[in-house]
Amino acid sequence: MQLEKYSIGVGDRFARQGKAQLQALVMAKDAGVEIVPVWNKSYREHTIVGTSPDDVRKEADAAVSALNWTGSYYVDADHIGLDNVDEFVDSSDFFTLDVADAIGTAASADDVRAFVEKWSKYTGNLAIPGLDAALHVTRGDIEAIARKFLLAVQEAGRTYRHIAEKKRNGNFVTEVSMDETDQPQSPKEMLFILAAIAEQGIPAQTIAPKFTGEFYKGIDYVGDTAQFEKEFTEDLAVIAFAVKEFGLPGNLKLSVHSGSDKFSVYPLMAKALKRFDAGLHLKTAGTTWLEELIGLAEGGGDGLEVAKDIYTQALSRYDELCEPYAPVIDIDKNALPTADEVSSWDGARYARTLRHDQACPDYSIHFRQMLHVAYKIAAEMGTRYYDALARYEESVAGNVTTNLFDRHLKPLFPGTLNP
Ligand SMILES: [Zn+2]
Repeated sequence: MQLEKYSIGVGDRFARQGKAQLQALVMAKDAGVEIVPVWNKSYREHTIVGTSPDDVRKEADAAVSALNWTGSYYVDADHIGLDNVDEFVDSSDFFTLDVADAIGTAASADDVRAFVEKWSKYTGNLAIPGLDAALHVTRGDIEAIARKFLLAVQEAGRTYRHIAEKKRNGNFVTEVSMDETDQPQSPKEMLFILAAIAEQGIPAQTIAPKFTGEFYKGIDYVGDTAQFEKEFTEDLAVIAFAVKEFGLPGNLKLSVHSGSDKFSVYPLMAKALKRFDAGLHLKTAGTTWLEELIGLAEGGGDGLEVAKDIYTQALSRYDELCEPYAPVIDIDKNALPTADEVSSWDGARYARTLRHDQACPDYSIHFRQMLHVAYKIAAEMGTRYYDALARYEESVAGNVTTNLFDRHLKPLFPGTLNP
């Protein structure tokens, strides 16, 4: 199973927007760009919403058949490890092996020594096409990298082999993710991480590194965009080199996590991808659910009431909702509108405050992030929320499709989708 050059991870908290999401990819295909959908949902998300991996498979299959999508599509067991992968095995054909927790724990001294020995042929000045300067690699560097990353990659290897044993046809895509860690990986680290991945026999088709800056959920990139561009470009260069050197899959590409709404870096990514003729997997982060709220608000009537109610409840449960997301949100509590204010708004005002249009004076990153983490409340509403989604389907679907196509895909494919 070979993942295509361009793929997008479409998270969908409540599994109701499969068709509306896929519609954006149909539009891209009609305009000349093939991007395949990967429906992703993490263990944490399933736990909070009360869904199972099988629901994601059903959603994907239904959307594909409703729109007669003839291209590939995938279901991603997102951020899994050995302890929770089993319940994803049947319904998934894409596995994101999250090894971030093991980074920094050293592998056995023997393993580290063997690793340094094996790869010491790369010591000295190593020229990698696309990098501004040669990498200067010492045995000490390789040892330090092995101490920091080898155990994590060994663990990914164990998880990979576990999945491969259960899925005997071998028909699945493997991603290795290291994004949920403190420090971005340097080009040198990336090179030897890829060496370790090859050594473990993991046929990784995507790799998710940590980049500089903040990838807060649902809002734009916060950080040094020039530094991001540098790291992104260096990663592309190292991956292209590693594919040839280590015999990794030829379609190995970068995966950018929490990729929703990172508008200020999309053009930089597009430029670098073009330079290396590289592919991309962009994993969006569940902002489809915010488009549901916008669609409900714009629908008016009890749709708007549901949207307002969710905000009111979210405010009163602020700490509980924010706590699990603390490292990936940045909300100024004092900048949030009060429940009374919001209850006086019409649907258009609610939508303008929530929609990610930075040029709109009513747009609030605080309101948006507060609602982003409030999906637990919609999950608890259960039937009332799902009924509203069904009643306002047209308004909701229009927002979901437009968000993906106009705000995400167009800036990533400037020549073709946004001439
Ligand atoms: Zn991630």
